[in-house]
Amino acid sequence: MRFAVLFAAALLAPLAGAEEPLRRGRDVIFVRPTTTIGYDHQVALEFETLGPDQDAQVSERILGFAPLAREVRDYRSHRRSRGLVALPLYVALARGFVGTTYCVRQGFLLHTPLPSGESDTQFRIAPVVTLSGSSLKAIEAGKGEEGLGVLCHEAGHALMSVAYPLPLYPGSAPEGLRDLLTSEGHWYGKVTDPLFAYSEGWAEFCEFFYTNRALPPTLLQTREGQGPQAKTRPLTAEEIRKCEGAQAYLLLAVARAVEDEDIVRRWLSTMARSRPRTMMELLARYVEAHPERGEAVEKAVAEASGGRFHVDKDYGAGDLFRDQADSWRRLGEALADRLRALRKAAEGGEKKK
Ligand SMILES: [Zn+2]
Repeated sequence: MRFAVLFAAALLAPLAGAEEPLRRGRDVIFVRPTTTIGYDHQVALEFETLGPDQDAQVSERILGFAPLAREVRDYRSHRRSRGLVALPLYVALARGFVGTTYCVRQGFLLHTPLPSGESDTQFRIAPVVTLSGSSLKAIEAGKGEEGLGVLCHEAGHALMSVAYPLPLYPGSAPEGLRDLLTSEGHWYGKVTDPLFAYSEGWAEFCEFFYTNRALPPTLLQTREGQGPQAKTRPLTAEEIRKCEGAQAYLLLAVARAVEDEDIVRRWLSTMARSRPRTMMELLARYVEAHPERGEAVEKAVAEASGGRFHVDKDYGAGDLFRDQADSWRRLGEALADRLRALRKAAEGGEKKK
């Protein structure tokens, strides 16, 4: 909860005083160091606001741009020499008029005015949260739960991205590619695959955990059919592994049932140490590291899932491969649809000539 309070106080204050129209690329609100992961994989969650005289600018061109790329390497090696395996996490909030709020790791420049009147500019690379117009409105209108929830959701992605080196981040290739093709988006009850459900479920867990809200048990059900004839039925064990809302619901149940005040920090340490690819693996590795909490974790997931989910410590690459098969099939269908549409458009064009 301390996280949420600090987050709310520090994040909402600079937004409230904004008067000028907002421009993408210029209106990064502020940047602050938060999390570090030490060599022992212990995570320290600290929140600090940068001084009011500091200002940041998101750089649109980072990688492949030689002078800046060299700065990144210098910066990384500097940090390593001070005993850190991961860079500190900065959450830079960029104000952008984009359709959805998102978080990606990107470069930005941090300006600090010096007493001499000049300014010191440093390059940083960190997760950057860009707020959509509607998220920004919710925050500025003081819609605490909705606005803060968005920020805590994105902070969840940011925290996770610091625990994994980029190539190991648990993103789903077929679901990511399919979303590029269809722009379908995602929602709590969407059944995708365990990788996608883990990364989004984790962010949704952070959203509800830090805003101290409950997720409804209906997240463990799905509706079949349309209109008044629609019937609800419980998600199967396999569907629970592939559904982001169900994963968030179970993580929340565990976090509240297990007596571990520091559970989020310990889960992040587990991520940094064992690089779990799925929520199943996150819970299994957490229990391995803290066997005294195993029973409480099992009991919490069994109760919350009505006995349909249990932590399988042997869940591995083969199981994940099988659980992802439908995602690849759906990607194939989306590609075929796109090709058909392109062919139709080309034929239409020929007829006109
Ligand atoms: Zn998300």
